[in-house]
Amino acid sequence: MMITAKARAVDGPDQSFRSAEIKRRDLDTHDVLIEIKYAGICHSDIHTAHGEWGPVNYPLVPGHEIAGIVTEVGSEVSKYKVGDRVGVGCMVDSCGECENCRRGEEQYCLKGNIQTYGGVDKYGEPTQGGYSTHIVVTENFVIRIPDNIALEAAAPLLCAGITTYSPLQHWGAAPGKKVAIVGMGGLGHMAVKIAHAMGAEVTVLSQSLSKKEDGLQFGANHYYATSEAETFEKLAGSFDLIINTVSANIDINAYFGLLTLDGTLVNVGAPGEPLAVNVMSLIGHRRSFAGSMIGGIRETQEMMDFCAEHDITPQIEVISADQIDEAYKRVLASDVKYRFVIDTSTM
Ligand SMILES: [Zn+2]
Ligand SMILES: [Zn+2]
Repeated sequence: MMITAKARAVDGPDQSFRSAEIKRRDLDTHDVLIEIKYAGICHSDIHTAHGEWGPVNYPLVPGHEIAGIVTEVGSEVSKYKVGDRVGVGCMVDSCGECENCRRGEEQYCLKGNIQTYGGVDKYGEPTQGGYSTHIVVTENFVIRIPDNIALEAAAPLLCAGITTYSPLQHWGAAPGKKVAIVGMGGLGHMAVKIAHAMGAEVTVLSQSLSKKEDGLQFGANHYYATSEAETFEKLAGSFDLIINTVSANIDINAYFGLLTLDGTLVNVGAPGEPLAVNVMSLIGHRRSFAGSMIGGIRETQEMMDFCAEHDITPQIEVISADQIDEAYKRVLASDVKYRFVIDTSTM
């Protein structure tokens, strides 16, 4: 007697989304059944659905920004009860035993974490994501959503929020630090809000000035267009930390030149092609080039609580399940302010 969920699935790289019914496993002792209310649309969903990140086991139900309500709990669940407001992000399990898992960095599990969709769970079944009405997840990978964050606003925090919070925290965004955010999309706009709340002086580096007003309203102190060459001269040697949210292949060496002595540029966007790094621009000022991927479960909860405390929520546009294909096109055209969220009651 498995649980049936309504979902939206895609059958191939060039296919449209269609209605589907998927099975969720029966609750194991530590499992929680969540009735999904909202699911965010992340750029990764689009890359994966289109088969751009390697082979996909279709049909695929994407979605790793999930917010909903607990409707049933396994016999030994201790952290959650029926009625709790909860979320699920990019991963649903990990080995729990390796050095990285024991440090609470499950996203870097040495055996590979189990992704919310497109993975294989410990029972050997393919995982399917949040574009659906229900999901079953082990309690240790469920995040509590504080009462003052609406569920539709909480959803994007589970990927866009933690992906930017974790490197800002790790590399010490704080009062007295100058932080630049490259790109003002779904990730970038969250990075601006979070870095501002951490007390850093925040600069947005965007292709154009078209979103300048928004950026300043989200908490940026400065806003520059990277299409203007003088931006790079003017800001040379300025930033302690640069978070690059852009996955397009940018002139990374030009950005290294914007770092201070000991400054770090962190990529959270993943370019499809290798970058041409001029090591001289790093050596000259003991600069670092780093990467960061989402965050651990403990840190994801910390991020959620931080956002609740500082009244940080993403800018969202709620859509119905029938609008997913259209939303994908608009994300690819950068025509979204700043995150689409699917209302799963329309499944
Ligand atoms: Zn994502
Ligand atoms: Zn592990």
